[in-house]
Amino acid sequence: MTNSGRHFLQIPGPSNVPDSVLHAISMPTIDHRGPDFKELFSHVLTGMADIFGTANQVVIYPATGTGAWEAALVNTLNSGDEILCCETGHFSSLWKAMAEKWGLKPTMITGDWRTGADPEKIREALEADSDHRFKAICVVHNETSTGVTSRIPEIRKAIDETGHPALLLVDTISSLGSVDYRHDEWGVDVTVSGSQKGLMLPPGLSFNAISDKALAAHQQSTLPKSVWNWTEMLESGKNGMTPYTPSTNILYGLKESLRILNEEGLDNVFARHIRFGKATRAAVEAWGLEVLCTNENEHSPVLTAVVMPEGHDADELRAIILEKFNMSLGAGLSKLKGRVFRIGHLGDLSDLTLAGTLAGVQMGLQLSGVKVDPGGLDAALDILKHK
Ligand code: PLP
Repeated sequence: MTNSGRHFLQIPGPSNVPDSVLHAISMPTIDHRGPDFKELFSHVLTGMADIFGTANQVVIYPATGTGAWEAALVNTLNSGDEILCCETGHFSSLWKAMAEKWGLKPTMITGDWRTGADPEKIREALEADSDHRFKAICVVHNETSTGVTSRIPEIRKAIDETGHPALLLVDTISSLGSVDYRHDEWGVDVTVSGSQKGLMLPPGLSFNAISDKALAAHQQSTLPKSVWNWTEMLESGKNGMTPYTPSTNILYGLKESLRILNEEGLDNVFARHIRFGKATRAAVEAWGLEVLCTNENEHSPVLTAVVMPEGHDADELRAIILEKFNMSLGAGLSKLKGRVFRIGHLGDLSDLTLAGTLAGVQMGLQLSGVKVDPGGLDAALDILKHK
């Protein structure tokens, strides 16, 4: 089937890349040891520090988020260190599995994949650890597989109240630039992020924001590191350089995406995403379907995972929607495969794009034989029309 108009890429990242960012990326590649690059790289380093909410220098890798996950571990920890991980879904499980591959010893606080990391359970685990065996706590801020956003300030408070010295490592791969986040103010030690979601760029850049405490741990850390070594990245970065070839053209795109985000104003960007989340949930609830996230305080502004009713397969629904309406929705991952579909509502997205997205979902559900109340779309429009 041929489709006129643009493909609707409504997965929870990679998100749609604005035209001006695509134009910026298409500029000729320059000498990454020359003065123009120095100016560009210094500019984006400062811009990214602002987005993270940190006064410290950040690190930019030519890698996807997985690389920056690994960087957070190998730069701060020692072989055999125990760490505390919080099971929120597929991505928290992958981060833990990576830690195991590095010979770290993670303890998982188990979760139901419908709620965020629980500050009280973290408190209990730390209170029980009087020898301070846990060297780090890993939390995924926005769990992209479930549409649940963990409450980092409450987690920080719980850690502080125990007086436990473990580092707090937070994955903001699908929240940075879409959801309020403050690395310094919230007392996070390493924040991990990636380019292809809230920053509206293609995949290929990832980031670490680093506290003074994490930097001190880095100086003692013995896990092997080469590509990810903060010392080399930070030293070169001070001079607007990188220790090896950077993703020059995606960095042009980053400069433009930072301009777009700042032009809208970060607070407006966050408010827009919250509205998109509300409108999407209003549609889902009016259709008579269930949102996967069960905690009212933890709904993701970035994506909504929708539970498929018994007897229906979410992947079949996604296939129908792709075929009929040229729209991609996110699949259920690992144990949620076929049981949920995920509507991405992040990045370069307008009210009408979301309205079109929800119209496509509603029509797809009807074509799949799922009984839905057609008032779902109206419920979303009622929210979208009131700014
Ligand atoms: N963490 C989260 C929350 C993610 O959403 C993703 C990817 O979607 C990753 C980690 C892995 O990052 P990447 O696929 O960019 O390597």
